[in-house]
Amino acid sequence: MTLKVFQCEQCGSTVFPARYLCFECGGAEWREQVAERGIVDELTTVRRRVGAQDGADVVIASVTTDAGPIVIARLEGVVRAGDAVGLAIDEQNRVLALPIA
Ligand SMILES: [Zn+2]
Repeated sequence: MTLKVFQCEQCGSTVFPARYLCFECGGAEWREQVAERGIVDELTTVRRRVGAQDGADVVIASVTTDAGPIVIARLEGVVRAGDAVGLAIDEQNRVLALPIA
């Protein structure tokens, strides 16, 4: 699935996740915009997760999307800060960041 962010119809600001009101202009009308790619800002490894079925480490990152908003994504593959990544949503509704070959 593709990652969708939300663009204010009134002023063009983009947000993720969805908001009731635009933080820039107070508008309440949004249009969906696909965010296919982004740049990794920072990343960290999560070693202990409450309720996790397996004990594997998970790497998460803040990613500035090509559509504007910063999202927190689960990294798949070897990625470093500054790298371009593809963005997707998995079957559990998690945001994934995938290396671009
Ligand atoms: Zn707005």
